[in-house]
Formats: sequence, structure tokens, C-alpha cells
Amino acid sequence: MNSPKEIINRYAIKPRKKLGQSFLVDQNIIRKIFSISQVSKNDIIVEVGAGIGVLTQDLAENASKLIAVEIDEKLIEVLNDRLLEYNNVQIHHGDILKFDFSAIARNGKQKIKVIGNVPYNISSSLLFHLISYRKVIDSFVLMLQKEVVQRLIATPGGKDYGIPSVILQMFAKVEKVLDIPAVCFHPIPKVESSVMTGFFREKPLVELTDEDFFIKLIRAAFAQRRKMLINNLKKSRLIEDISESLLKELLEMEEIDGHRRSETLSVKEFGALSNILFKGQTKPLIK
Ligand code: SAH
Repeated sequence: MNSPKEIINRYAIKPRKKLGQSFLVDQNIIRKIFSISQVSKNDIIVEVGAGIGVLTQDLAENASKLIAVEIDEKLIEVLNDRLLEYNNVQIHHGDILKFDFSAIARNGKQKIKVIGNVPYNISSSLLFHLISYRKVIDSFVLMLQKEVVQRLIATPGGKDYGIPSVILQMFAKVEKVLDIPAVCFHPIPKVESSVMTGFFREKPLVELTDEDFFIKLIRAAFAQRRKMLINNLKKSRLIEDISESLLKELLEMEEIDGHRRSETLSVKEFGALSNILFKGQTKPLIK
């Protein structure tokens, strides 16, 4: 097998910063990520930003089917060249944020694993995209900026815990599995990276009456981190039609002290709060 550096030289690739191109060149790390991915012959894999294909070949050899998604036309040529001999590989030229995962899930029976070294500028949009297709996605292994992973896996109480942690953890079990030093990439990025794994839950941690409302509530609750929960809620346009006294009553019903800061609420508490506020807003005079 050719080393990543050899491929970069052979195809005279000039990494495009705008597309977040930073290729993994450390073979040891590449092997580790492959083993973390636990690919089996039953899996349909979607690789996000396959690049020059450093992971792609190994994934293809071990999966049932692999769809390598890559936005850069120049790299599509490289991928086509390198993966010619695999008939279970489909190379998809396009934007992962527009990729329709449900179109490739065979009757929804076989679920998809998403794997990739993701450009930092699309990491949160990508996660939202994955959440929206979670019915057909089983799990994901993603390399992201270290600080982003820190926030996604954070538990209540600290400064890392916030909007992305609550939203993602409502729908997925997440874990950080590996830190990757910047020197493992070419060109060397300014930030460190980590690998995280996620498994979508059968059902969200709390059965949500309205998912959009939940997401809006989390954004409102963390609008000003230093403020108390109740003040953030009062200021939010989300629940305009709930009077302050009803708001207090609803919080009490869930035994949530409105004087707490949002960063102290668990994901479950946010779920319960979302359901009760949603009910309170559509039927303002419960009792
Ligand atoms: N997986 C490779 C490349 C990582 S760099 C490796 O580890 O070496 C990130 C890759 O994502 C680049 O190849 C870049 O062109 C691609 N990319 C950037 N934005 C994308 C998007 N919106 N959709 C699909 N691929 C994208």
C-alpha cells in the first residue's frame, strides 16, 4: 500500500484550506481509527470526506457496502483510481450536508455507520444532519476538533456543557475514545483533534412531545450562560404566552428550581422541562 504522503506527492495534491483539508498521514493512528470503527461484513458505511482515501480501502475490504462522500472533484479522481477494484464501493461526489442517508438504507433493515475525519467548519451542521437521519443511522465514529468533542461529551456542571451536549446526548450515547496530535495530519492543523463514537438510542432519553420545541428550548436556556434558568426562559420568545406565575408553577411541577443555571440541568431534566413547557404553552390554563 502507498503511504498517504506518497499519494499526496504522486497526485500533486495541494490541500485546500477552505474545504478543511487536512489529511491523516500517521499510519498508526489510521490503523487505530479503523479498529475503533469495528467494521463488519454486515455494515453499510458512509465515509464523510474520504479525501485521498487513507481509511477508505480498509473500510471497503471489511464492510458490506461503502459509500465514500467527497466534495472536491480533484479528490474524486484519486478515489476512483484507488478504489477501482472494489465492487462494493460507491464514490459520491457531493456535499455530505445534503446527503440523503435514507436513500441508501436498504428498506431500513440494515443500519448505517458513519465514519470520518470531518472538516471543522461543518462539524455542528453535520451532527444536526446525522440526528435528523438517526432512524437509519446506527452509529458514528468522527474525528473532530478536540474542544468540540469535549463539549459534545460534557456532563452537567462545567463550562463545556451546553447546547451541543444536551441536544446530541438526548439522541445518542457518546464517548471520546482517542486524542490525535496535530502532527498526525498534513498539513498540520492549528488545533488538536479527538475521535468520538456515538450510538443513536432506540428512543430519545426522554420521549419528547415536540423535538423542534426541545431544540429551541435548549437554545433559549443557554442564551446567557451566567443567568438563571428562569430569567433565560422569561426572556425567550419561545414561551411568550406563558405567564411568569405559570412558568414557576410548571418548573415546580418538575421539581426544577428556576434559580439554577442551565448548565446544572441534566439532559433528562431538559427533556421533562421541554414536555411540560410545550404543554403549558398550548394549553395555557392547565389545572
Ligand atoms: N478522510 C481524509 C480527509 C480528511 S480532510 C483523511 O483523513 O485523510 C476532510 C475532507 O472532507 C476533505 O477531503 C474535504 O475535501 C472533504 N469535505 C469538506 N467539506 C465537505 C462536505 N461538505 N461534504 C463532503 N466532503 C467534504
